[in-house]
Amino acid sequence: MPRDYLAIDGARRVRETARHRCGDCLSPQHLVMARLEIEHIIPSSRGGTSDESNLWLSCPLCNRYKAERTSFLDPETAAEAPLFNPRT
Ligand SMILES: [Zn+2]
Repeated sequence: MPRDYLAIDGARRVRETARHRCGDCLSPQHLVMARLEIEHIIPSSRGGTSDESNLWLSCPLCNRYKAERTSFLDPETAAEAPLFNPRT
C-alpha cells in the first residue's frame, strides 16, 4: 500500500472523527471559508507526534492563534491553564 494512501486515509479519519468541525471554536467546515487544517494537539515542536491520537481539526484562525502553545493564561485567575484536548 503506498505511503500517501495511508496519510490520506488517516486525514480522512481525523476529519470524520472531528465531525468536520474545528476542535477549538467548533465552527463546521461549511461555515469556514478555508479548509479546516489537521493540527497537532501537542505541537511537534514540543514533542508531539503525528500519530492520529495527537491530530485534530482546526480552523486557520484557531490554529494560528494556538500556534505552539499548550497553555494560556486564564483571564479570570491569571493562572497558566493547559489547553483542553478536543479528543477527550
Ligand atoms: Zn476554530
